[in-house]
Amino acid sequence: MKQIYFDNAATTPVDKEVLKAMEPYFLVEFGNASSIHNFGQRAEAAILKSKDIIADFLKCQAQEIIFTSGATESNNTVLKSVFVDFKGHLITTLFEHPAILETAKYLSQNGVDVTFIKPEKNGLIDSQKVLKAIKKETRLISIMYVNNEIGTIQPIGKIGKELVEINKKRENPVLFHTDAVQAMYFLPMQIDRLRVDFMSISGHKIYGPKGMGLLYIKDGLKLKPLLHGGHQENGARAGTYNVPGIVGLGKAVELLSKAEHQKELIRIEKLGNYLIEKVMELEGVSLNGDPQNKLPYNSNFLFKNVEGESLLLKLDLAGIACSTGSACASGSLSASHVLLAIGIPHEEAHGSLRISLGKMNDKSDIDYFLEILSKSLTELRSFSPFK
Ligand SMILES: *Cc1c(COP(=O)(O)O)cnc(C)c1O
Repeated sequence: MKQIYFDNAATTPVDKEVLKAMEPYFLVEFGNASSIHNFGQRAEAAILKSKDIIADFLKCQAQEIIFTSGATESNNTVLKSVFVDFKGHLITTLFEHPAILETAKYLSQNGVDVTFIKPEKNGLIDSQKVLKAIKKETRLISIMYVNNEIGTIQPIGKIGKELVEINKKRENPVLFHTDAVQAMYFLPMQIDRLRVDFMSISGHKIYGPKGMGLLYIKDGLKLKPLLHGGHQENGARAGTYNVPGIVGLGKAVELLSKAEHQKELIRIEKLGNYLIEKVMELEGVSLNGDPQNKLPYNSNFLFKNVEGESLLLKLDLAGIACSTGSACASGSLSASHVLLAIGIPHEEAHGSLRISLGKMNDKSDIDYFLEILSKSLTELRSFSPFK
């Protein structure tokens, strides 16, 4: 049976070149980067090289990057560290990834004042609402760059720019963090354009290894470590360096600056537009999130009178892997917090399907999907109690 993977927002396979770059660091160059001897030094050199590649891509300094076990750890580090001593005010949004949302809820149960900004119906955060929420006690704003369930792009650069002005008049600056996991593969990432103080990135969403991420920390700022132990990363993050993972993440980022990558982005955009055009020709369907301000690779559709989970299972039986929302939200029967946040009623939010495209997909995959989708919709709706 044909196997089609349409869940690239949940995770991507490791690129062959990434795997090739990693391999020696499992087998031959296995040294502990903190060791003084030659094995250790070669491992350390590999880490520094990886940092240079990434710093070059983000247009920041290599020492502003620390490696983590993924974006979940990066997000936790920023939020918990900023509020560990001062129980001030945090501004975030209602449709963040659980790695922010749950951390923010945890903080709010522990004395931190949290404002959750509601996104607009089109899946965008209104920058003015964010800035208006700032109080004297505000210490941090954390807003995702691209939403993982609906692909909408948030005005990070705009908020960052206005915040610089606001901070000029403040005694204690408001720090700015973005979870940029879903943007890394597709959007401009230069720190000086985004004007953030902290940024979280994950390896496995950009054809790099799982369990590997990074945190950008602006020069001059210091975060209390989440993990205490050895003096790795200048004491910012303890634990033996994951050298193969670090090399893999570096290679995955290096591939993003190649000419082929630009071609791939154009290809994916065409594919994504084709998908949207064709799905929207079907009966009783709408697209979630502003089509003008979303990434073409990630499309979230709402089907009337259909249960998203049933649709997902039917597609899976035909070899097509997609999702009803995020991998983290599925497995629970509650409707997607993202769709609820953009004002979609509970009953309707259950009829959602997210298609996220990747390198392995082509037009024939979409045509096959359209055929199965249309059949499945007819079948499911014929049983629907909603009619
Ligand atoms: C996948 C994802 C995360 C979690 O990243 P991990 O590296 O798996 O911990 C966080 N935020 C967003 C937006 C994501 O898509």
